[in-house]
Amino acid sequence: MDAKVRLYVEQPLGAGQAVAVGPEQATYLFAVMRLAVGTAVALFNGVDGEWLARVADVGKRRGVLVCETQTRPLALPPDLWLLFSPIRKERTNFIVEKAVELGVARLLPVTTRFTQSERWRQDKQFAHAIEAAEQCGATFVPRVDDVQPLDRRLADWPEGRVLLWADEALAGRSSTLTGIIDAGTPSAILIGPEGGFSDAEKTQLRALPFVRPISLGPRILRAETAAVAALVLWQAAVGDWR
Ligand code: SAH
Repeated sequence: MDAKVRLYVEQPLGAGQAVAVGPEQATYLFAVMRLAVGTAVALFNGVDGEWLARVADVGKRRGVLVCETQTRPLALPPDLWLLFSPIRKERTNFIVEKAVELGVARLLPVTTRFTQSERWRQDKQFAHAIEAAEQCGATFVPRVDDVQPLDRRLADWPEGRVLLWADEALAGRSSTLTGIIDAGTPSAILIGPEGGFSDAEKTQLRALPFVRPISLGPRILRAETAAVAALVLWQAAVGDWR
């Protein structure tokens, strides 16, 4: 039987495992979705895969679901990070949602010279990531970092990870990632804010050994479009879409 609700929970999942839900999830399950005792729900927690569970107890501000069988094993996204500058609220939300759907392991907002909005609510954005994962059938929710200056991120860059820098100055060059990166290489994509990167940032990025500039086609894309385009290129060239 198919579950019409998929829910991310933090508790462990396994055969016979009871999962208690709190006020927020109880309201969603029992008041909004009107699930009754016996109804099937799909659960995942980012660790144990997806499980078919059934509502065992319904309360006003609480409830219990009991796991039956695993319906999907855990599928981790490829080792791809997305670094991007927070932009306008709904456009930032779009980046988070699309990145989860397209498949990333970690979201790292960075402030740059031309970042306009420094607003980044880590808890709210993690909630967005969860919603996107629930909706798209993922069994994993990417890690969502707090915002950091780009400088600081670059200063303690992990050994062996390639940073694909979407450089608007390369607009018009060929956009294939073939030959730029091999499958299996831990990667990150960097997308700038609406104003692009400053000259100082460009000089700094060009000098870093782990940075590889990439083009995203002949036109200048909005930051959120650029994020989606770069993720698609990467996924198709070396990711889990191949
Ligand atoms: N105002 C800037 C454009 C910023 S677009 C200008 O006119 O130069 C926002 C971000 O999207 C850029 O910083 C870059 O990371 C990415 N981007 C947009 N179009 C791109 C392209 N054709 N190639 C590479 N990166 C692009």
